[in-house]
Amino acid sequence: MKILITGGAGFIGSAVIRHIIENTQNTVINLDKLTYAGNLESLNEVSTDPRYFFEQVDICNRAELDRVLSHYQPDAIMHLAAESHVDRSIDGPAAFIETNVVGTYTLLESVRAYWNDLEPKKKASFRFHHISTDEVYGDLEGTDDLFTEKTSYEPSSPYSASKASSDHLVRSWLRTYGLPTIVTNCSNNYGPYHFPEKLIPLMILNAIDGKPLPVYGDGMQIRDWLYVEDHARALYKVVTEGEVGETYNIGGHNEKANIEVVKTICSLLEEFVPNKPKGVEQYQDLITYVTDRPGHDVRYAIDASKIERELGWTPEESFETGIRKTVEWYLNNKQWWGRVLDGSYSMERLGQGS
Ligand code: NAD
Repeated sequence: MKILITGGAGFIGSAVIRHIIENTQNTVINLDKLTYAGNLESLNEVSTDPRYFFEQVDICNRAELDRVLSHYQPDAIMHLAAESHVDRSIDGPAAFIETNVVGTYTLLESVRAYWNDLEPKKKASFRFHHISTDEVYGDLEGTDDLFTEKTSYEPSSPYSASKASSDHLVRSWLRTYGLPTIVTNCSNNYGPYHFPEKLIPLMILNAIDGKPLPVYGDGMQIRDWLYVEDHARALYKVVTEGEVGETYNIGGHNEKANIEVVKTICSLLEEFVPNKPKGVEQYQDLITYVTDRPGHDVRYAIDASKIERELGWTPEESFETGIRKTVEWYLNNKQWWGRVLDGSYSMERLGQGS
């Protein structure tokens, strides 16, 4: 198979590409605009493989999308390109509407034109897999409630509203035009190569630098954490074995309050890096409660029984094993995150670095 992956230089997209190149015979075309969140250094392990191709393209650029589709003739699309950080969507929603809504629409139209012209066998087996989030469902009220594929949409932030819009567009392109689409909605991911603005890498890097660990509100917001490599395996299963028109929820069965996540990171650092920065007695002393994010959802939790039952996928990592691997990865990969923090990963890309 030739699989075109949008957003392949991002956190999850790069995990999907590493998974496919390392574990299958398929070819991957990585189509990415390379925003601040796109980092080709996350693909160093696989980027010299002859089955890997990269195209720097914005999903809002119809002519470029048409060119790439016609040149590579992919058998499937995995659409991950998005603006993905909730805090940024609150400060500046425009980019979220542009990429997540207009970009998804532009991609759907380009793919529809390409798909219409395919010969019947290739047309029948073609897949458009849209990767979305559990945040489209909004908040869970009861402590035992879970998001299922039938839960109605109630997005709370500009990010989740823009992802909800894109999910609706994708499903309507199947219903109206017959484009063979599949949607997945996943819970919070964590693991290697996560951009250090997100909770888990931010806490690890701040702690080892002796900086405050900012926790929103009372820290009791609950998220269902999934190790990114488990997500990558689930996505590959869905694009190769999933049923057209279906939605699959993907989750880790690992509900944790944010404050619990931060305290776990602190205790792992006590074990791995007992020599603390000057003036720090315990990493936990760095925890600082800050004003809550506006509209902050309190609890997300996924019922992933459908993908388990129908496609035989289950996560391999528990939160305890995954967070241990993640903390160790950050401690051993300063080269990667150091270049993100000092900006050189993107300056070099633009030809401005040394
Ligand atoms: P990310 O922010 O790490 O990566 C996004 C990638 O998309 C980057 O490489 C960026 O350069 C690229 N991109 C952004 N705008 C683009 C555009 N206009 N054209 C082409 N490329 C563009 O995001 P992520 O965490 O890897 O998330 C990937 C997808 O998975 C997103 O659609 C997100 O909504 C969804 N998702 C994320 C999580 C999570 O916990 N991170 C959970 C569930 C679902």
